[in-house]
Amino acid sequence: METINRLESEVRGYVRSFPVKFKTAKANHMVDEDGNDYLDFFSGAGALNYGHNDEVMKKALLEYIESDGVTHGLDMATVQKSIFLKTFEDVVMKPRNMEYKIQFPGPTGTNAVEAALKIARKVKQREGVLFFTNAYHGMTLGALAVTGNASKRGGAGVNMPGAIPMPYSGYFGKGRDTADDLEMLLKNSSSGLEKPAAIILETVQGEGGINVADFDWLKKIEKLCHEHDMLLIVDDIQAGVGRTGPFFSFEPAGIKPDIITVSKSLSGYGLPLAITMIRPELDIWNPGEHNGTFRGFNHAFVTATAALNEYWRDDKLEKKVLRQSEHVMTRMQGIIDAHTRFKAELRGRGFFIGMDCENAELADEIAAECFKHRLILETAGPNDNVMKVMPPLITPDEDLDAGLDIIEKAVHTVLE
Ligand code: PMP
Repeated sequence: METINRLESEVRGYVRSFPVKFKTAKANHMVDEDGNDYLDFFSGAGALNYGHNDEVMKKALLEYIESDGVTHGLDMATVQKSIFLKTFEDVVMKPRNMEYKIQFPGPTGTNAVEAALKIARKVKQREGVLFFTNAYHGMTLGALAVTGNASKRGGAGVNMPGAIPMPYSGYFGKGRDTADDLEMLLKNSSSGLEKPAAIILETVQGEGGINVADFDWLKKIEKLCHEHDMLLIVDDIQAGVGRTGPFFSFEPAGIKPDIITVSKSLSGYGLPLAITMIRPELDIWNPGEHNGTFRGFNHAFVTATAALNEYWRDDKLEKKVLRQSEHVMTRMQGIIDAHTRFKAELRGRGFFIGMDCENAELADEIAAECFKHRLILETAGPNDNVMKVMPPLITPDEDLDAGLDIIEKAVHTVLE
């Protein structure tokens, strides 16, 4: 593996395999230092759902900087924070009849997960948290403890007391509903399962390989939470902010989580911003019980506000993504079907699509071949065996097809 930056630790994970230095980026394109243009089907692992350097957000940010607007406000009330909260309420919460308190838990996704786990344990006065196979919730110790991939915990070798793994939707294939397994364990005191404080889940597991939860399964899990006095935490850090089409990934399942974590594309511009949404009656934090220095980053409030105003005041973006998603899925299934030796499985919702290539070597080879032809995409899954197709939501039809042409040729080159 070529080392691009000699001083950077080998811990660098994602994107290790891109042997170029990128310099500029616009919308769904990235340009390297030699001026080569790449199509982006990665979107910063879901942090750039609106693409790179959106003009409206850039203008808002430049104006804010020019006006000497507060940059770092810690927990102070700032005008920009109020504007963001009001916009989030008007554009996201009110149309969906949602009532939540909003916590700024720290700059990044894993901070939102830590806050969610901590508040659930505090509210329920129980330490257990149930999580699912192949789940990914972040790299701090609490989030890592509920991450369903033992190899990801390998670096730290820890488990949180009370973190309980369970099989995710579809884990045993069709014909067995893993929510029924959980129900049996919860109902039967001889199972040894102590009632957890909460269940944490992603509706589509991103890092776990684009595993899509069944809507009925999600409803059953929600029902079990109600029946057994557990809180439902939905981690919408990667699946949210339109990645699956609607703003929140759980909307079409009709469930109402007690706690929601949102980050990645929330700021819209790739700036760090995370929120933990907590049902108002559960927001029993005492001042200072979960603090941190960088959670009042007003530049992120500026771009987040601009993003909400630009993209979510109507349902155009959602409709566009859902229409294009069908086309992408159809073409990708066609690519798989064209090769009898290729036993890949296609999964996904919206622009959160995975092609499970069975093994890492094949997924890696195809991704590397795509990169040669200037298409950026990454792999995920328990063994990095899934090619992730995550274009920015603003990608025009012709660029989607151009990217799919590259994937088609890459699969052909690798398999034939
Ligand atoms: N939860 C989910 C579902 C994620 O996909 C990620 C990041 N890939 C995280 C939490 C952690 O977010 P961050 O990397 O910003 O800490």
